[in-house]
Amino acid sequence: MDYVEHIADLVGNTPLVRLNSLAKGETPVLAKVEYLNPGGSVKDRIALRMVEAAEASGELRPGGTIVEPTSGNTGVGLAMIAQRKGYRCVFVCPDKVSEDKRNVLAAYGAEVVVCPTAVPPDHPDSYYSVSDRLVTEIEGAWKPDQYTNPANPESHYLSTGPEIWAQTDGRITHFVAGIGTGGTISGTGRYLKEVSGGRVRIIGADPEGSVYSGGKGRPYLVEGVGEDFWPETYDREICDEIIAISDADSFGVTRDLARKEALLVGGSCGTAVAAALKVAETAGPDAVIVVLLPDGGRGYLTKVFNDSWMASYGFLSPDHAGGSVGDVL
Ligand code: PMP
Repeated sequence: MDYVEHIADLVGNTPLVRLNSLAKGETPVLAKVEYLNPGGSVKDRIALRMVEAAEASGELRPGGTIVEPTSGNTGVGLAMIAQRKGYRCVFVCPDKVSEDKRNVLAAYGAEVVVCPTAVPPDHPDSYYSVSDRLVTEIEGAWKPDQYTNPANPESHYLSTGPEIWAQTDGRITHFVAGIGTGGTISGTGRYLKEVSGGRVRIIGADPEGSVYSGGKGRPYLVEGVGEDFWPETYDREICDEIIAISDADSFGVTRDLARKEALLVGGSCGTAVAAALKVAETAGPDAVIVVLLPDGGRGYLTKVFNDSWMASYGFLSPDHAGGSVGDVL
């Protein structure tokens, strides 16, 4: 019989899919499709590694509670691992996170605390502050803290990087990814640089306004990437280049991925692919570009895939139109 003991055993080993319609040139642009992880995002990888490291160090003990500020994906990964191992989960998220995403966390059995987005990180009501307070109040609480935990980039050094190297037979020349905590690009980038003797170029894709591309933390709408501070999990030496992408371009490309490539993915995938397409313009025919797509699009149906929402920000363009849903006949 062919089966695994638990859904969490299926984390990682996601496929590469060539973009045919958006990247028409000779240079292959290969998408690493992370929504095929069992929790639906790249964050399953870090959840698994962070929990295992905390168990090994004794920070997380049987019957403990995982408390984490998360915009959704890390929460799902942690909830899945917690379910397997019998931990309780309390997640703290900002109110800009869609209700769909919060409901998913609750469906896995987690308790979700919602905080205002429009306050600075050091404000007592910020999701960072509230999660800090809960860790001290709840007995047996452990906070993975994906923004400082070395197991975050390490999970990518140990899994995402080696997978991409093997899948491309060592022919990868460019790796493109968004930067949130920086775990994906730092861990994957370090592995690919080491194994290739520094040959693979690492390119960050960043929302306009975020600090990584020289912004001051001005707000943007794409979720999961860009920051208004510098996390410890981001290796500031890793990127050879960082490309700033507007919200309009991120969301336009996200819609194109669904309509033209049948990849229903989240808005930060549009950010990453928009950057990868720019890289492809000048990379040459021998280049092999891998772009990482962090999550799926079902958590964003009321945002990027909703025409009224897109129109309210002036992002709706006939170029990126989807199909239509008619009235009841
Ligand atoms: N996209 C989405 C949707 C995310 O949730 C995250 C994680 N914050 C990222 C991209 C960025 O990944 P990382 O934190 O590894 O930089």
